[in-house]
Parts: sequence; structure tokens; C-alpha cells
Amino acid sequence: MDHEGHEMGFDPDELRERYRAERDRRIRDNGADQYLEITGQYAHFADHDPYVEAGFTRAPINDEIDIAIIGGGFSGLLAAARLTEQGVSSFRIVEAGGDFGGTWYWNRYPGAQCDTESYCYLPLLEELKYMPKEKYSFAAEIFEHSQRIGTTYNLYDRTHFQTRVNTIDWDEELGRWHIRTDHADDLKARFVIMALGTATRAKLPGIEGIESFKGHAFHTSRWDYDYTGGDTTGGMTKLAGKRVAIIGTGATAIQCVPRVAADAGHLFVFQRTPSTVDWRGNKPTEPQWWASLQPGWQRERRENFGAQAAGQSVPVDLIEDGWTDIFRTVSAPKGPNRPRTKEERDRVVELADFAKMEQLRARVDTTVSDPDAAEALKPWYRVMCKRPTFNDEFLAAFNRDNVTLVDVSDAKGVQRITETGVVANGVEYQVDCIIYASGFEISAEFRRRLGMEVNGREGQSLFDHWADGLKTLHGFTTRGFPNWFYIGMSQNAFSVNMTSMFDDQARHIAYIVAEAMRRGARTVEPSPAAVEDWVATINGFKVGGLGFLEACTPGYYNNEGAPQAGSSFFGAYTPGTNAFNELLEAWRATDELPGLELA
Ligand code: NDP
Repeated sequence: MDHEGHEMGFDPDELRERYRAERDRRIRDNGADQYLEITGQYAHFADHDPYVEAGFTRAPINDEIDIAIIGGGFSGLLAAARLTEQGVSSFRIVEAGGDFGGTWYWNRYPGAQCDTESYCYLPLLEELKYMPKEKYSFAAEIFEHSQRIGTTYNLYDRTHFQTRVNTIDWDEELGRWHIRTDHADDLKARFVIMALGTATRAKLPGIEGIESFKGHAFHTSRWDYDYTGGDTTGGMTKLAGKRVAIIGTGATAIQCVPRVAADAGHLFVFQRTPSTVDWRGNKPTEPQWWASLQPGWQRERRENFGAQAAGQSVPVDLIEDGWTDIFRTVSAPKGPNRPRTKEERDRVVELADFAKMEQLRARVDTTVSDPDAAEALKPWYRVMCKRPTFNDEFLAAFNRDNVTLVDVSDAKGVQRITETGVVANGVEYQVDCIIYASGFEISAEFRRRLGMEVNGREGQSLFDHWADGLKTLHGFTTRGFPNWFYIGMSQNAFSVNMTSMFDDQARHIAYIVAEAMRRGARTVEPSPAAVEDWVATINGFKVGGLGFLEACTPGYYNNEGAPQAGSSFFGAYTPGTNAFNELLEAWRATDELPGLELA
């Protein structure tokens, strides 16, 4: 037994073996293909908008515009705000929903909340002088904030809502992109900014018989309050006496399970892999503290978060929450006692990870009274193998008489859906309603993730162009796709504080677009050499990272157990968001747009 581990109260060899076994027994032959795309016979799970009246029609729009921003979630709103700052106002936003908000427009399930501190997460707080109500905002406040941005920056009149983009095609002769939509629009834009977010397309678990269920069923991203009653705060009185199944125990289920448990006649939670559930500790914002913040505070706070996420030590942890605790856990110690070799570093970090997970497993034991349920709820993997969650009500929900945890890990998932219920481990659980908390196409291949076609010069498909891995400059532009920009997870620095990452990207893209317009350029696109260099830079970071992911239990973080070097999801600028921003700032400071060709 490892001596240090023993002193900490665990046996590292045993844990290593257990983690490996838990991973192995979950790996499925069909990997990421196990999930069902929400199309065809499953389309009804996502092709409707519960928040607007059905049947919206309008005449097709045939417009020439300077800039089309595809998506009116936070990344699209930030693109619009940062373009406005650059003095550019000739843009249109195209948004599938009936309002702004993106993921916060669609995801209004009960208990929905942001796991990143609101002071870091909610964009433009200083510009809008808005004080979040709590350290962790709930969905309604976040949605309202996106509306606030829309109003403040006068974006409502410049947005085509309830409009879904089907294709984006470059027209060389016109020097514009055709954006064609489900309303037969043809918007001809000089520049396109893709701002689609990451959890854009919901997915269903690959369970036989989903279509045969005769009761009520929906995906968490289209919560059916007509059926349940209530709203995002709960109060789902129509669930009284009903038997409800929730399939999945990711970040979404962790938040909605306690609310459904409070209102349903009986709740069955079907769990394949348990999430880590760390403390939340939400609290109201203190007005005095808020008033004491100095200009520039939000950037400073985001950089503090970003530095810790990148494993750097900071003089003071401004955030002090579950995320920053995890960042410290998975970073090697600094200072005179820091590990000197890679082996030493890996060993120290692994021990800290074991200790953190032991603490999280102990939290299950102290909260959940039924020993079998407690055992099943314990996660056995390294803390960053799956998206960590933070909640003070989820575990306690399993102490209720009307809640049953059904562990489906042995069978690698729920077996079957019948006309009347859910079959797991050979038992049929009869239910009135099935709620799929089965997530999104976050790390699927690009075509599936985006759900639209993008064709550049000579009709080349973006997805063919990227079939063997992304090819970008800084993640934003690609050769053969002039005046086309992408905001998202694409060969740039990743942050769990998504909106801060999107904001930095939006600033940079707004600068390039504004400069191209100021310089009278017809097109702007990266040179082949610049793309080659950037791809090499990103590939240089990949070395070493895949081994960690391979050893993890399957999930979207590791492409269901098969992280591939070529996959677009796994290429990131690993020095972190702050380092990436410095790189972008230095790039902008040259005033020469190096690596971009203006024609
Ligand atoms: P996830 O992809 O995280 O979870 C899907 C769940 O469905 C998993 O528990 C999965 O199990 C389970 N599942 C899939 N197939 C089956 C099957 N055949 N039988 C039984 N169970 C099955 O989706 P979420 O919607 O929970 O979260 C997606 C992401 O959205 C999060 O990771 C996070 O990034 C974001 N999010 C952010 C929030 C925030 O606070 N900002 C809140 C909510 C979501 P298994 O793990 O075994 O694959």
C-alpha cells in the first residue's frame, strides 16, 4: 500500500483498480453512437417551443446585411454588444427561440441554476450595472439578464426570432453568405458569426422502445409545465399522485430531481453513472460588498477564476467555491515543496484527487440514510472525469419515501421502454411520465452538433473540411470560409465559465470584423500557413491529456470512453483562458492582423 495514501485513509492501489473496473464495466461497444439524434420519429422531443404560441408564420425575408449573428444566446448577445462597442451596428441576429437566452431560454426545468458563480458568469454586469440576487443565479434571473442585454443594446429590432438556420453558403460572385432558414429566408450577409453555444442540440439515450411509450414523455430542455404544473421554482401540483421516471443523473438531473421528488407521487431515478455532488452554499448578494466593487472588478474576478482553472496560484481566491476547490485539487502544489518531476507531479495530484473523491463519497454516506442507495450514489473516478456538480438537495432527496434510485450500471443503462414504463435489471417500473435528462450533443462530431450545413468556397462542406480534425486560426476562422467566424469550443482556451470564454472570443471577432470593414476588405480569411501553425500549436498540447480521459468512466467528456487525438472536442489551448487572452491581445496590438489575408 502507498504510504502517503494510507496516512490519508485510503489505499491508492485499491482505488486505482476500482476506478479502472468501474470504467471497464460501463464501456459500450457502440460508444457515442448509442445516443439517438432527435430527428425523424423522435423529432417531437425538441422541434417545438413551449414558450410561444404554435404555428408562427411570416413572409420570407430577402435582405442584404453586413453581419449575421447565428444564435441569440449569451455568445450571440456578446458578439452584438462587442460589435456595438466597435462602432458596428449593421448586424442581424437569427435565433431559433422566441426570445434571447439560448440555453437559458430552452432549459427551464425546475431547479435550473448556473453552477458558476453569477458574478463571474453573468456577462456585462458592470456595463449594465446589474447586481445578481445570489451567488448562484437560478434560470429565471439568467434568462431575464439576457433580455436585459437585448434591451440595453437595442437588439430586439435587429433579431429574427423563431427562425432556424438550415444552410449557410458562400457566394463568391456576391462576396456574401446566403443564410437560408426554415421561413424560406435568404439573408445575404458579408460576415457570419456562428454563436450557437455548446448544448444546442438535445439527445436521447439509445434505449429500445422509446417511441412505444403511451404515457407522457419529454426531454429536460423542453420541460412540459402544462403537464407538470408549476414553474422553474417547483410547485408542480399536477404531478401529485403521478409515477415519474427521470433517466440520467448528469448536471441537469442533479438540479431537477429534488424538485420533482417534492411534487411527484413517486419518483424513480434511473442512474447509470453517479455524478459527484459537492456542496453548493448559495447565498444572497451582500449589497455593501457589491457597492465596494471597483471598476474593472468583473474582469479581475474572471481572471482570478481563469488563473485557478489553469492551475496557477493566486494571492487570494476571490471565488472560494466548489470549482476553485477542485481546481486546487487537480493542480500540483507550488512553492518550495513543489514536485520536481512529471512523475512526482502526477503522483501528488492523483493522491489529492483520491482524497477529494473520498470526501465526496463520505458526503454521500453522511447524507443518504439507506446504505444501498448510498453505495450506488458514490462516484468512482477522478474528479474531472465527469462534469462536477454542486447541490445541497439532491442526495437528501433519496431519503424520501417517494423516491427510488434504480442503479442501471450493471446493464450499461436502462434496458427497454415499454408502453407503460421503464424496464431495468429485468424489472418493469410502471410510470405515467418519463423525463429524459439525457443531455446534449456537446462532443459529438461537428455536423451532428451544429444541425445545419455550412458550405464555403466552391461549395466545400465545413464538416468535410474538418473531418480529420479542426483547422483554424485561434479557433475562430478557417481557410476557404471567408468572413466566417466561430464562437465556441474550437481550438481555443476552454473555461467552465462559458460566458467569460465567449465574451473574450466575441471581443476578438468583433475587432477583426470591424477592422476588415474599416480597411475596406471584401474578404478576410486565414492564410494556410497561419492555420497550419495554429493546428500544430494545439496538437502540441494534446500530448499526454488523452491518457487521463481514457482511464475515465465514459461520458461526453471522453467521447464515451474513446477520446481520439483527431476529435475536434479535444483540442484546446491548455495554458488557459488568461494566457490565451494575452496572446489575442498581443495579436491585436500589432494592428496588422497577422495570419489573416484581407482581399
Ligand atoms: P449529461 O450528458 O451530463 O447526462 C446524461 C445522463 O444520461 C447521464 O447521467 C447518462 O449516464 C445518462 N444516460 C444516458 N444514456 C442512458 C441510458 N441508456 N440509461 C440510463 N442512463 C443513461 O446531460 P445533462 O443535461 O445533465 O448535462 C449536460 C451538460 O450541460 C453538463 O455537463 C453541463 O456542462 C451543462 N449543464 C450546466 C448546468 C450549469 O449549472 N451551468 C446545469 C445543467 C447542465 P452516464 O453518465 O452513465 O453516461
